[in-house]
Amino acid sequence: MCAVFGAFNCKEAARVTYFGLFALQHRGQESSGIVSSDGDSLKIHKGTGLVAQVFREKDFLHLKGNLAIGHNRYATSGRSDGHTQPVHRKNSILAISHNGNLPSVKKIKQFLKEKSVDCSGLNDSELMYEAIRYFLLKGFELEDAIKECVPYFSGVYCLLVMTKDKIAAIRDACGIRPMVIGKLNGGFVISSETCALNTVGAQFIREISPGEMVIFTKSGMRSYKVLPPTQKIDIFEFVYFARPDSVILGKSVNEVRKNFGRRLAVEYPVKADIIVPVPDSGIPASLGYSEVSGIPFDFGLIKNRYVHRTFIQPTQKLREKDVEMKLNPMKHVLKDKRVVVIDDSIVRGTTSKKIVSMIRAAGARQVHLLISSPPVKYPDFYGINTPNQKDLIASTMTDSEITKFIGADSLYYLSFKGMIDATGLQESIFCTSCFSGEYPIDIGERMKNIEFEINIYRKNNLLPLSA
Ligand code: AMP
Repeated sequence: MCAVFGAFNCKEAARVTYFGLFALQHRGQESSGIVSSDGDSLKIHKGTGLVAQVFREKDFLHLKGNLAIGHNRYATSGRSDGHTQPVHRKNSILAISHNGNLPSVKKIKQFLKEKSVDCSGLNDSELMYEAIRYFLLKGFELEDAIKECVPYFSGVYCLLVMTKDKIAAIRDACGIRPMVIGKLNGGFVISSETCALNTVGAQFIREISPGEMVIFTKSGMRSYKVLPPTQKIDIFEFVYFARPDSVILGKSVNEVRKNFGRRLAVEYPVKADIIVPVPDSGIPASLGYSEVSGIPFDFGLIKNRYVHRTFIQPTQKLREKDVEMKLNPMKHVLKDKRVVVIDDSIVRGTTSKKIVSMIRAAGARQVHLLISSPPVKYPDFYGINTPNQKDLIASTMTDSEITKFIGADSLYYLSFKGMIDATGLQESIFCTSCFSGEYPIDIGERMKNIEFEINIYRKNNLLPLSA
């Protein structure tokens, strides 16, 4: 995942960026950082933790200028305490923020090696930084440097690139991750999602198109088509990642999620007394299910708002404990009820198993688990923390085995067609890799991590971690 946010020609750009990153906290909680420019030099502050933990008032005295870019990191590779962004080298006039992942770094490494740039130990974002820097040092203008580099960036990226007086925003040819432009007074902001525009008081202008580079300079905003576009937004942005108050491709994320629930109610009607969402991710779909089925909605699980997302803990043990810390069952709501509990997805199965047993322990008579997306069977290589297929419960167990494993009376996943129809958009504009195994951007050497046959791990006696 990760979030990027930038401010161009904005008074106290770093402060604007801070509030932008704050609104995008859901896209990454591992680390946060901002680089600002006052037209002469770049200043940086970054660290591990939440936005509110990383920045202090005094940091903004140092982060001067009308230009800034920022980043919230969600660890996809490497140690969770390393690789904070923006990438910036001391005394250099370049900084980049990257949302996405390059599943293959062969091409870019080869290019840098040919140019005698030392790339040992660098991650994908740092390699991109070095490539752009190489051309800048050769005297290229920022836009030309990026155009030269783009052919070597084989993967997924929403990039913000800043020099002393320019910001460039680039989206890969498939536009896997979202990125939008807003207007703020006389300046511009660039954000992973529209929700952050409202927070900083900016007005939405438009999305950056797949394969497009937009350059912000003193003379305004200029657009270049740097790659032939094929729109393939990750459907998981609608399923889980994006904030419900964001709009993607003209669709309200909240409304699409409600549609998932409405569709679930048609595909899998259950005789139940109550619809309970897994907060917060299951709320819109539960409202949609309740609306169509006429079964009342209630909060049977209360979320402690001060615990951040479960996936952030690196070990399985900590992840399991996290669910208990995060959710508490409401006995008086659940007791003696036939409960439909709705969540957006099952990944490892850890959360669902805990939730079902919590609801039973609170006295429910039946627990039916409904999921507002199809089974996640394939790993993501475009910026999500599920690199191993054997960790995905739906790729190692059948639906009835999962039902037994999580201890539910029944389990139902929204159909693939149901999910697509609910978005109101064409299937062809989506990347659906985690559900379909179809990877629109070459995953290169990572291909060996995928087994397209379900149960292959069982044949090899490799059980999922969650079993
Ligand atoms: P699990 O316990 O592994 O099955 O995780 C499922 C829960 O994690 C669901 O409640 C989802 O809302 C949430 N989830 C799904 N995908 C992700 C992700 N990439 N990062 C963090 N949480 C996720």
